Amino acid sequence: MPPLAVRALRPLARAAVSSPRLPARRVAGVRIPPLVQCLSTISPRNEPLDVTDIPPTPITHRSETETLMGETVAKFANDVILPKVREMDEAETMDPALVEQCFEQGLMSIEIPEEYGGAGMNFTSAIVAIEELARVDPSVSVMVDVHNTLVNTAILKYGSAETQRRWLPKLATNTVGSFCLSEPASGSDAFALATKAVRTDSGYRISGSKMWITNSMEAGFFIVFANLDPSKGYKGITAFIVEKGTPGFSIAKKEKKLGIRASSTCVVNFDDVEIPKDHLLGEEGQGYKYAIGLLNEGRIGIAAQMTGLALGAWENAAGYVWNERKQFGQLIGSFQGMQHQLAQAYTDISAARALVYNAARKKEAGEDFVRDAAMAKLLAAQVAGRVSGQAVEWMGGMGFVREGLAEKYWRDSKIGAIYEGTSNIQLTTIAKGLQKEYTR
Ligand SMILES: Cc1cc2nc3c(=O)[nH]c(=O)nc-3n(C[C@H](O)[C@H](O)[C@H](O)COP(=O)(O)OP(=O)(O)OC[C@H]3O[C@@H](n4cnc5c(N)ncnc54)[C@H](O)[C@@H]3O)c2cc1C
Repeated sequence: MPPLAVRALRPLARAAVSSPRLPARRVAGVRIPPLVQCLSTISPRNEPLDVTDIPPTPITHRSETETLMGETVAKFANDVILPKVREMDEAETMDPALVEQCFEQGLMSIEIPEEYGGAGMNFTSAIVAIEELARVDPSVSVMVDVHNTLVNTAILKYGSAETQRRWLPKLATNTVGSFCLSEPASGSDAFALATKAVRTDSGYRISGSKMWITNSMEAGFFIVFANLDPSKGYKGITAFIVEKGTPGFSIAKKEKKLGIRASSTCVVNFDDVEIPKDHLLGEEGQGYKYAIGLLNEGRIGIAAQMTGLALGAWENAAGYVWNERKQFGQLIGSFQGMQHQLAQAYTDISAARALVYNAARKKEAGEDFVRDAAMAKLLAAQVAGRVSGQAVEWMGGMGFVREGLAEKYWRDSKIGAIYEGTSNIQLTTIAKGLQKEYTR
């Protein structure tokens, strides 16, 4: 394992939390309250941020901690992940050493409180990390994203004190998590799921099959949605915790994919899997509410994965056209026809990033962010697909061959319009809210 050239994030978080508060300042006669010069915050989950005193600031500004997070993750991604990206994609496997390093770096526990061994940082820090990782490898990015924004969040939001005490230290240090909602016959219509749970003397028995489950090869911890009372329809859906190795649990098939090939995506079977009572997550019959809430947050993560990917693809091509490739006696990036396309693409990425950061800040401030998250994911996925596709063309033959990463960014971009709600589903969410608002 190569030596890590980056500092672990946990000490950074500690330093930020314990750093002395800044005195109030006056700028142009306006009092700037301490520690809130911008909306950026280090306040962890469950501590809603009071935004009433915060003056408007550029939405993509990052707090000192978030800036450090961005720089640290960018360095980790470039030094440690980048040399492995092509090999992992060809092998369609995540390097286990890299998974370990993600834990060591605190990247798997961004919002988990320090008392459980986590980094104790805020949601936007997670978004920054996901974006920076995707700039180099969208596969590593989605592993970190699903683990943090869906799995850790599920335990932080809905787990009992005992569930948190038992699982958060593991999720923070050595156990990858998976989120099992989709099934062969229920994708967009997720709550039509057929996996069943029944009560037993000692707990529950789960039977069914889940499809397209991210992280399933690496995971030891699975959040599984099953219907405990089908007579109640989706109101019977309940969330459970299943550990790898429980009798009846199996990974049935690993999918071969177009993109994010290093990220594992498998069919997971539950053949009469018996779990104890304390493996119920939250309350019976609340699973559909949990899934909606988690996916609303998770979508901001996927949007960040897509803006990071778009930026990575753009930078990869910009480096080539403005520094390396000459035709007709000049750098190809000096032709106006190329410059305008690069400028348009960068503008599109910036617009998508503004939506992503706005959604994250609204979530952190405790405001309604559902439409913002849907708009961010929709646009980020569109921009990622468009920009990474153009970037292949800007690089000509070099963009098309598997020597570089241009073609990989493009393949990876397709998933942004599919998982955690397809683009049509995002449009439906956006339209529903708008119609309600504009119906007289
Ligand atoms: C790589 C990968 C990783 C994944 N990871 C996970 C995971 O970790 N956990 C998990 O639970 N799931 C996961 N999924 C599943 C993913 O969330 C679903 O694929 C997604 O929700 C879409 O469902 P579907 O594939 O069944 O498509 P379908 O629902 O069959 O949709 C196909 C097309 O029909 C359109 N459509 C469907 N319904 C409507 C409608 N009402 N209005 C308009 N258009 C509609 C869709 O927009 C889409 O274009 C993953 C999928 C992939 C490919």
